[in-house]
Amino acid sequence: MRSGTRAGIRKCRRVLVKIGSQVLTTERGLNNRVIERLCDDMSLLMDRGREFALVTSGAIAEGRAIMRVKEADISLSKKQALAAIGQGSLMRAYTDAFRRYGYTAAQILITREDLDNRRRYLNIRNTLSSLFEMGAVPIINENDTVAVEEIQFTDNDMLSAMILPLVEAHVLVILTDMEGVYSKDPKIHDDAEIVHEIAELRPKDIRGYGDGGNRLGRGGIASKLEAAYRASMLGVPTVIASAYTPQVISSILEGSQVGTFIHPKKKAQLTQKDHWLGFVSRPKGKVVIDDGAAAMILGRGKSLLPVGVVDVSGSFKAGDPVEIVKRDGTPIAVGLSNFATEEVVKIMGASTSELSMILRYDCDDEVVHRNNMIVRKETF
Ligand code: GLU
Repeated sequence: MRSGTRAGIRKCRRVLVKIGSQVLTTERGLNNRVIERLCDDMSLLMDRGREFALVTSGAIAEGRAIMRVKEADISLSKKQALAAIGQGSLMRAYTDAFRRYGYTAAQILITREDLDNRRRYLNIRNTLSSLFEMGAVPIINENDTVAVEEIQFTDNDMLSAMILPLVEAHVLVILTDMEGVYSKDPKIHDDAEIVHEIAELRPKDIRGYGDGGNRLGRGGIASKLEAAYRASMLGVPTVIASAYTPQVISSILEGSQVGTFIHPKKKAQLTQKDHWLGFVSRPKGKVVIDDGAAAMILGRGKSLLPVGVVDVSGSFKAGDPVEIVKRDGTPIAVGLSNFATEEVVKIMGASTSELSMILRYDCDDEVVHRNNMIVRKETF
């Protein structure tokens, strides 16, 4: 079902569409014309069997317009209050626009912490799958009102990339106020052009592309490409295009050359679990290992055994994600620990045959099993 080419997108049934604040709102509030046009386009496509989930920004911008807050620099608590004010009208605009075609919109507000916790993460997947079964359109935004600053999503582009495996979408469409990704910054270079295809997006190339857009939401072109990179690692293509192009979603799904198409990675794609470990989870602690263990992990694809552990920090339970670092602090992998911090303290340096004696129960041999580990070079 996933497609590696523009034409292959025609076969994609489920689509995740991310729409940014700059296209959804004006200074006077929500741009209902844009919302209605996009919902018309999606509704007609749903009539023909496509499924959509949306990641939408615009709550804070709409809250600003309602409360006539003009100043750019406002406190986090004020932003959170404005999100609480704006989210209702944002949702009503989608609900009304889809209802004209007999479709139902469903609100999902999530925080970074919800995705960080593997149980809650998987639970969101179940909810989404029930919504698709009912034929509803999940409309997702960050739960800005309760999100704590240090652990907010950087922006809704990142939220889309993290939620993608949960939506089980076959293609990611990022709609913005630009025609696509520019070869360089069009504000500085007259000869900047739209790049129609990026065959292999590498993290180190992301900063080289240009951003021609305005700033209202949080993300720029770099974060859109970062989201596209994470999607590509899952084997999912991304199209970045302008929300102002008439019937933009249908054109993309017909395989037309609209916006920028970022190819999915063909080989060595990540499983959903590895994607979560590498891009979503935040490690609860660090396990420092010796050079021998690092060589086993990096060179021979082995698990991490207690004998290779030299230090441990943080506070984690069995099953929590931990970062595996070398003595000089270089991160080499992330994985799910089979032990809690205090158990690792007791068994570090010990050989496999000593473990059950030290812990006084029949335990696993590995601190982190290879199947629950992702090596850093596989993500960045
Ligand atoms: N969640 C924010 C809002 O709805 C937008 C975040 C972003 O611009 O990426 O207003």
